[in-house]
Amino acid sequence: MKFHSTRGGVSSIRLEQAIVEGLAPDGGLYLPNRIPKLSKQFLTALPSKKYWQVAEGMLQPFMAEVSKQRLRRIVKEAFTFDVPMKQLEDDLYVVELFHGPTLSFKDFGARFFARLLQSFIEKEKTQVNIIVATSGDTGSAVASGFLDIPNIHVYMLYPQKRVSKLQEQQLTTYGHNITALEVLGKFDDCQKLAKTALAMRQSKSGAYLSSANSINLGRLLPQSVYYAYATAELKRQGVEEQPRFVVPSGNFGNLTGGLLAKRMGVPIAGFVAATNANNVVPSYLKTGRFKPRVSKATLSNAMDVGNPSNFSRMLALYQHKRSAMAKDIAGIAVSDAETIASITAIYKRYGYLVDPHTAVGIAAAKTYRRTHPEKGPLVVLSTAHPAKFKATVEAATHKRMKLPRALALVAKKKKKSVVVGNSIAEVMAVVR
Ligand SMILES: *Cc1c(COP(=O)(O)O)cnc(C)c1O
Repeated sequence: MKFHSTRGGVSSIRLEQAIVEGLAPDGGLYLPNRIPKLSKQFLTALPSKKYWQVAEGMLQPFMAEVSKQRLRRIVKEAFTFDVPMKQLEDDLYVVELFHGPTLSFKDFGARFFARLLQSFIEKEKTQVNIIVATSGDTGSAVASGFLDIPNIHVYMLYPQKRVSKLQEQQLTTYGHNITALEVLGKFDDCQKLAKTALAMRQSKSGAYLSSANSINLGRLLPQSVYYAYATAELKRQGVEEQPRFVVPSGNFGNLTGGLLAKRMGVPIAGFVAATNANNVVPSYLKTGRFKPRVSKATLSNAMDVGNPSNFSRMLALYQHKRSAMAKDIAGIAVSDAETIASITAIYKRYGYLVDPHTAVGIAAAKTYRRTHPEKGPLVVLSTAHPAKFKATVEAATHKRMKLPRALALVAKKKKKSVVVGNSIAEVMAVVR
């Protein structure tokens, strides 16, 4: 399998190059040259497979460069946590993707990517610096994935005062080979700084600079696996119809993983792209015009993205045809007021606590159902543990929440960050 850039300037490169580079030299994002089809046999057997077996079967076709034994080891080590599915009501399910070590779905991509990158650089004996912009959850997932891995240093850029208190504790308390840069700017600024740093590529020391954002294929590809696993879980629960997945979205890496799964042949009816007020993709689906904007701060901060990176991959997958994209994806934006009302209602109705991102998803699912009354299961991807957004969730439910052990531990640690202005020179002075 070979890979190319969405901007067309780079073609037929190897997986290793795509993973180590992160962003293509022409500024585009890497995509596989073709999307492999899963065999009928594999799809039929899905309900009897363990998570790591689904991952192995889906990722292998992209990774002929990685030995079978190595890939098996990577998926077994990366995916060690549960992926439970809860039914809220008839035709409405939630699949919980937050049982990894940092309590958001980002653990799936980050843990796989860290081990894959390690397998590539082991041979080369090079030092690699990883730069990652985070709107809250990516940074800690990537840091946790790379903590204490030799020859790798992670630099995380996060927007000052725009992540939750607990998210910030998670970001800033690793130490070791992890450095948190607290940027005087928004997430979009962080993302731009990371991209500029990557474009400059070789940092001064000669260490290689790579990206761990969902622009990296190493994070994107494993995000297709839980879609297949969730369809299998529905089958195990006796549901035969194809589900439509509702995906709380910011940079659209999660949703793009689903598009890949569908193209590979996983039985998926379609998607709902659920956003907060940062609704450039729902607007595109309606009007055909894509207008990136400065992001607005909302309660679902990990989705505060005004210029979603993976949109270029979505366009490429649909040959830039809005009508084709709109057949598979419905876009629904949810306000902060609706998000809070959704957290409250879900708790009252089902006794179930959800974080603001998942609440956006469930609110969008309800809107979708109202406007598309035909039957069929809707599966909302729950992207974060509610305790990560304790203050918001407690205010909406009037219920006190206990922190899971992992969070209680980081809450007590001492924050350590380097404050930098919104300037590439200041960032590069830290990224040695
Ligand atoms: C990152 C994140 C999202 C958005 O995912 P994208 O792949 O950027 O669309 C949604 N919810 C949570 C909790 C996140 O951390």
